Amino acid sequence: MDPLRIGDIEIVMLEDGAGPFFADRKEVFAAATAEQWAAADTYDPGALLPDGRWQLRFRCFALRQPNGRTILVDTGIGPADAPAASWAPVPGRLPAALAEAGIAREDVEIVVLTHVHTDHIGWSVTGGRPYFRNARYLLQAADVTALEEARSALLDRLLEPLRGTGQLDVVTGDRGLAPGVGIVATPGHTPGHQSVLVADGDDRLLVTGDLLVHAIQLLHPELGYAHESDQSAARAVRVRLLRELRGGILATPHLTEAFVRLAG
Ligand SMILES: [Zn+2]
Repeated sequence: MDPLRIGDIEIVMLEDGAGPFFADRKEVFAAATAEQWAAADTYDPGALLPDGRWQLRFRCFALRQPNGRTILVDTGIGPADAPAASWAPVPGRLPAALAEAGIAREDVEIVVLTHVHTDHIGWSVTGGRPYFRNARYLLQAADVTALEEARSALLDRLLEPLRGTGQLDVVTGDRGLAPGVGIVATPGHTPGHQSVLVADGDDRLLVTGDLLVHAIQLLHPELGYAHESDQSAARAVRVRLLRELRGGILATPHLTEAFVRLAG
């Protein structure tokens, strides 16, 4: 796939894996109607397996500046022993996808983790060491707090190794990362969920993270998803951003098509 460009930023899709999700999709989108499912399945037939299960892609995106500096958004499901191994189709193939795109892991200067679910942080730390050794890793403070309150295994698997090498940057709210690239706080899926906006005038692309996880939320942004930590906050930010981004492009981790252009 040819990379997209917004201004002088190149957006490279990197697929780490694909596979069925364990959840019953009718249960996790409990409010969706039969008509809404029919429309979503027409829009994204690749997300429905013949046996009725939900097929997910697991993607990361690299944002490349003209000087070769690279921002990586999310790190996928990870290697065979990653925290997502209990449910996701590990091992992922992000290292091969990076190599195919001509991106050395040393080129990655910033890793934005949209949130701390295991299918988005997989290659962040491998063998107890940060995989991207020259990168700052950006997480929202509210997600760090949520991990601490839950006494999550990710404190040891993810945060401690990043803190140990001084590579963890805990941020709050929106922040510019490079000319035309910035973090947008999109809380709801998790308390500290964040997305990344690339903009050049009216030309805009949002790397969504899990602002939406299925095409049914693209067609019906008001639909909540059971694994959102705050469904009403998630709904509000999804409805608002999809309206503001009309005519722009979404780069999504989980839909069958990596890039979706919103109607103007
Ligand atoms: Zn996800």
